[in-house]
Amino acid sequence: MKTIPYHIHLLVFMIFLLASCSTVPVTGRKQLALIPSSTMLSMSFQQYDAFLEENKLSTNQEQTRMVKRVGHNIQKAVEQYMADNNRSDALKDYHWEFNLVESSEVNAWCMPGGKVVIYSGILPITQDEAGLAVVMGHEIAHAVARHGDERMSQGLLVQTGGLALSTALATKPETTRQLWMAAFGLGASVGVMLPYSRLHENEADRLGLIFMAMAGYDPRVAVEFWKRMSQEKKGGAPPEFLSTHPADETRIQNITARLPEAMKYYQKADG
Ligand SMILES: [Zn+2]
Repeated sequence: MKTIPYHIHLLVFMIFLLASCSTVPVTGRKQLALIPSSTMLSMSFQQYDAFLEENKLSTNQEQTRMVKRVGHNIQKAVEQYMADNNRSDALKDYHWEFNLVESSEVNAWCMPGGKVVIYSGILPITQDEAGLAVVMGHEIAHAVARHGDERMSQGLLVQTGGLALSTALATKPETTRQLWMAAFGLGASVGVMLPYSRLHENEADRLGLIFMAMAGYDPRVAVEFWKRMSQEKKGGAPPEFLSTHPADETRIQNITARLPEAMKYYQKADG
């Protein structure tokens, strides 16, 4: 058998990398996407349903309606944004869902494909519908920017030496499940809460502000929300959301600096 020259290997590898790259909306950052989107989505839908079975949905009708309303409003804004930028394709396999669970935990997350959970424990800090839109916009932004795919890729690399997700699931189901939980901010149940990367957080803040503004929520309330969140760490263990989302001075400064951009979308939505 003839051996394939080195430069052909390199070429094939480069094509593989190019094919594995996607672009984050708004920021235009190129990201590596090694896990097939279909694998991420099927695991997401499975884990999301399992979570809902194991956890109690809120019985507060008014708050539940608010969570679904804010979610749908921001979903529509995201779909509009992607349509305006010829990126609707990126959302075609999403199955949006917005649920409020009864829990004293201060937390919220969004799994791939638009599967959102808000914990009732965060509502005293969001205070009102616009405050909730800050959290909802941010979480939806993580899903739209596919940050979870990146976190899982990195996690698989560190924990399993880079096994494919499907192989990892088959051979190391518990490690893979814990990795998944930590990657999406539900690690409290398995004892691991990892702060998300600053890059992802900045990106989700920026996109989240734009999406909430497009949905008609004043993005300026984000600054007050994060100030209230930063007060939560006083006394006792920090809430889950704060473990994954440090609410420090830098974050508040970055959000303030991004407001003029988001305000343009808010004024358009208003007018
Ligand atoms: Zn985040």
